[in-house]
Amino acid sequence: NQQIVLDNRPQGEATVSNFKLVQSETPALQDGQVLVQHHYLSLDPYMRGRMNDGKSYAQPQPLGQVMIGGTVGEVVESRHPRYAVGDKVVGMGGWQQYSVVDANTPGTLRKVDTTHVPLSHYLGAVGMPGVTAWYGLVKIINPQAGETVVVSAATGAVGSAYAAVAKARGCRVVGIAGGPDKCAYAVNELGFDVCLDYKVHTDVKSLSQALKEACPDGIDGYFENVGGYILDAVLLRTNAFARIAVCGMIAGYDGKPMPLSNPALILINRLKVQGFIVGEHMEVWPEALAELGGLVASGKLRPRESVAQGLAAAPEAFLGLLKGKNFGKQLVKLI
Ligand code: NDP
Repeated sequence: NQQIVLDNRPQGEATVSNFKLVQSETPALQDGQVLVQHHYLSLDPYMRGRMNDGKSYAQPQPLGQVMIGGTVGEVVESRHPRYAVGDKVVGMGGWQQYSVVDANTPGTLRKVDTTHVPLSHYLGAVGMPGVTAWYGLVKIINPQAGETVVVSAATGAVGSAYAAVAKARGCRVVGIAGGPDKCAYAVNELGFDVCLDYKVHTDVKSLSQALKEACPDGIDGYFENVGGYILDAVLLRTNAFARIAVCGMIAGYDGKPMPLSNPALILINRLKVQGFIVGEHMEVWPEALAELGGLVASGKLRPRESVAQGLAAAPEAFLGLLKGKNFGKQLVKLI
């Protein structure tokens, strides 16, 4: 069983030397356990936070242990009555080829149906990132038809699901993404009404002017994935009583400070600003996954994937994700 462990913690920017590839034997199964062969590993920005030792909402990744991560795969051996060899499952198997799972522990493993939805999508649009988009939009922003809602990191796993869910609610949907290809894709494939390229609009003034044109009726809801001057620019265009779901601040994950230049706008525009962690809202997952599964099955959400080949490619692909080299949901294909 090939595994990738966290070997040492990053000082500032993460590098491939923080990770180490190791080999181990898979232990024999106990009663209640299943052996899962992973087909895909999910790479997600939150893993960067876990690599640090500081205080956060999540425990740091222990050194020398297999990196945490979502996986989809197939049961290849089972000593649990509810799981049979061949079942397709999603779980948190980590950066390794196989995992032994205590299937009696709630929330460790979920069987999935691949009739209408490809297995890999259960790590993206019909998985944790999809539910993240759904929760922030539906439960925090709670838009009315006709309202304008904006999202940063628009073409990623979360952003692409956000567009589909917001369109289904009759919103005007505006994205912010890096580069002309991603922006064109957002409009042509993901259903965004407009997508603004922050690599063209590189400061608050330029981006807020572009947002003014893209959002002629102002901004009613913003889903924050990035932070920094992008947030400053959006704040300038918010309507009274706009709602901001703070999901991620990826521009600062390597420790860069991200001052807010005009927090008084929160008061002036009577904004609701709410952070959230999707794993703390398991009660909405069934409803959210049902809607997301429907959007994928009907072709209204056609998520794109960036697929790295083989476990050894995971560290490089992960560092690329933090820099926007991914185009859509970042995965690692293991078999
Ligand atoms: P994505 O697929 O969107 O990949 C990350 C994207 O972030 C990159 O492709 C890049 O897009 C963008 N990005 C990276 N660095 C910068 C930067 N300095 N400035 C602007 N954009 C940048 O990842 P996910 O969809 O998985 O995650 C999106 C966000 O959601 C992340 O912030 C993540 O931490 C957060 N999240 C939060 C959860 C929660 O429970 N709160 C759960 C899941 C995700 P581009 O090329 O367009 O710049």
